[in-house]
Amino acid sequence: MSEIDVPESHPRYQSLLTRHRIEEGVEKGITSKQGLIAEGRGEAFDYLLGERTIESADEAARAAAALLLLADRPVLSVNGNVAALVPGEIVELAAAVDADVEVNLFNRTDERMEAIAAHLHEHDPEAAGVEIKGLTADARIPGLEHERSKVDADGIGAADVVLVPLEDGDRAEALAAMGKSEIVIDLNPLSRSAQAAAVPIVDNILRAVPNVTRHAEALCDASREELESIVGDFDPDAALSAAEGAIRSGDLE
Ligand code: ATP
Repeated sequence: MSEIDVPESHPRYQSLLTRHRIEEGVEKGITSKQGLIAEGRGEAFDYLLGERTIESADEAARAAAALLLLADRPVLSVNGNVAALVPGEIVELAAAVDADVEVNLFNRTDERMEAIAAHLHEHDPEAAGVEIKGLTADARIPGLEHERSKVDADGIGAADVVLVPLEDGDRAEALAAMGKSEIVIDLNPLSRSAQAAAVPIVDNILRAVPNVTRHAEALCDASREELESIVGDFDPDAALSAAEGAIRSGDLE
């Protein structure tokens, strides 16, 4: 049974489902009103990309999976849009790559932090051995003003690889400046977040997160050398140029 009253064969099904989840996220106090604007911007880029995973985004998803599997302390950062759109899929990815999940908000309030953590707990992270962090907030990202700089010392603070989907550009740049390897999921190849990433995945988070999980499961028996060569062969600038090229070509198929 579909979550929305529209058949899955509808040409705009995915975008209507996304809007519905974001709207519900706002109603539940998970997503901020600014999150609605971010969603609109993402939708426009997805339309221009033909609402599909382009080849370079699939390669980026594979490199992201390899990077997460190589990491000592991988963390998946979750904001209000991510929590509304892919809560269960984030828990599944964290389980596949042995990562923790950290709630991390641009517009941080205790109510929203707790609502998001509770929403993630509905997807049974404990059963998958996944810890939900972010509420301790005992470390800071240098270079950001107070509320936006808060992270957990044993979460993003100590992470070597961080997945930051739909992240604001300032924070993505500040995390990169701390020496974190960043995987960014963002439909806009021109955004500062995508540009700051070691691995930018220019794709809708609805498609990208399950795709990274699929690659991680396929690579779970790969050797360190193989994983390192996948990461080493990945070129973030080429991935961004390919995405920009796909948008400019206007070829929606
Ligand atoms: P920046 O500060 O990085 O230059 P920005 O100000 O546009 O960019 P925000 O509005 O803070 O960034 O973040 C929203 C970003 O998330 C946008 O770039 C938008 O394209 C992207 N986005 C929104 N919805 C999705 C989605 N479902 N999947 C992937 N990306 C999305």
